[in-house]
Amino acid sequence: MSADLVIRGGRIFTARAEHPFVSAVAARGDRIVAVGPDADDLVDGTTRVIDLEGALATPGFIDAHVHPASSGLDKLRCHFDGCSDASSAVGRLSEYADANPDLPWIIGAGWSQSWFLNGCPPKDLIDSVVSNRPVLVMNSDGHGAWANSVALSMAGVGLDTPDPSDGRIERLPDGSPQGTLHEGAIRLVENLVPPDTIEELAAGLVRGQEELLRYGITGWQDAIVSKSIHGAYLRLANDEMLVGRVVGAMWWDRDRGLEQIEELVERREQSAPGFAPTSVKLMLDGVAENFTAAMLEPYLGDDGAPTENSGIDFIDPIELGEIVSRLDDEAFQCHFHAIGDRAVRSALDAVELARDRNGQSHHRHHIAHIQVVHPDDIARFKALDVVANAQPLWACHDDYQTELTIPYIGAARASWQYPFGSLLGAGSRLAMGSDWGVSTANVMEEIDVAVTRTGESGEPLNPEEALDPIDALTAFTAGSAYVNHAEDDSGSIAVGMLADLAVLDRDPLRDGSFRGVRVATTILGGQVVYEV
Ligand SMILES: [Zn+2]
Repeated sequence: MSADLVIRGGRIFTARAEHPFVSAVAARGDRIVAVGPDADDLVDGTTRVIDLEGALATPGFIDAHVHPASSGLDKLRCHFDGCSDASSAVGRLSEYADANPDLPWIIGAGWSQSWFLNGCPPKDLIDSVVSNRPVLVMNSDGHGAWANSVALSMAGVGLDTPDPSDGRIERLPDGSPQGTLHEGAIRLVENLVPPDTIEELAAGLVRGQEELLRYGITGWQDAIVSKSIHGAYLRLANDEMLVGRVVGAMWWDRDRGLEQIEELVERREQSAPGFAPTSVKLMLDGVAENFTAAMLEPYLGDDGAPTENSGIDFIDPIELGEIVSRLDDEAFQCHFHAIGDRAVRSALDAVELARDRNGQSHHRHHIAHIQVVHPDDIARFKALDVVANAQPLWACHDDYQTELTIPYIGAARASWQYPFGSLLGAGSRLAMGSDWGVSTANVMEEIDVAVTRTGESGEPLNPEEALDPIDALTAFTAGSAYVNHAEDDSGSIAVGMLADLAVLDRDPLRDGSFRGVRVATTILGGQVVYEV
């Protein structure tokens, strides 16, 4: 008996505590059939052998919070990859408009606030290159948009338009719109944009899947599955183009009530090989940078004194308890977005109520982002069996922290940010994800920050919360597999598991750094799906 594929010549990290490393792994068909020296014995003339040449191989990564359909679609539209300032961004808009003369709208995403004065790009810059069609392009975090004059006038946004309750129209000194729209004000224009079709989202998903595979990601949880994204997954699966192993988190519409559970139960039946819509996404708050993250205590003002504002509960906490109890009872997993310490607590309280009513369930509820966690809540993750779903790239001193967050939450709460080490130390399960397109999907960059707590600037953010590299790799493989109920098949390496693997271009554990490490080969079900 020979193997179809053998990987050897370096170390293979298994994500299994009892045997964390093996010297070789062999696959036949889509499964692992041998590890260690036994794998070497299965090489014959028909076997494809990948020689690691001293590099590390790992289980395929599993991204526990990612948006591949919408982020892939953004890449097919006007995107700003490679731009570095206002003039290159305007150049990109101009090129894209010229290349797509028949599009009624120019839409896209990915510009950076740092390219523009006060983070606010003016409409005139777009008008100078596109003046005959509406343009609306989102910034990289999705909380701001840049529009041209045609788009603003089509939407009737003018001198007398009031700001919506959940957003702000950036204005010129005379009160007329400047071209930047913040948060809820984006919708004033966005409502006119034709909604993404299933065809467009399916094309976006193909592009998104390609992006994930090239970072060694073989499975993921899609963190916002709208009805049309749901349709895109089913279409791809039907066309046998979905290769990743996906759990979908269906979007909870916070403008509606418990009656939507019936629909979610029906939609859960619409699954396909490789796509299981068994989770529900509950967005509990906004982000700290614009003071919409829900905090237990108020934000501070520019003078350092407490303001009246402690953020927004997107879902009323009392109602949330009912929602989570019902979803838990219907055997859904709850996938929470929680950034502020009040939002994290609301999620934990809601799960506690569900546990009291329904008893212990095994739906593996998880809280994504976990930016500010009150110390009293750390131990509750384990006690309630709630998985901490970390997006580690954010856990460093970037501009968002130093300029937009720390001055407004103060030193004490700043020290509670991204407490991954404390959560793990308290026995909670840890999963990881990228939140691509908000951040890169590059797992190595994310793990680098998880273990160093350092970004571009040299100073680490709460370095006592840094993870051991093995723990970070385990979270991004076995930890996320657990969230996806996939741990019997993927997320670790052993005989009988699916042959989902990532081959790196070096051994970061030996070299002591993940910075600049790349994925050389991605293997999914024994097949090479990406190689450099
Ligand atoms: Zn997200």
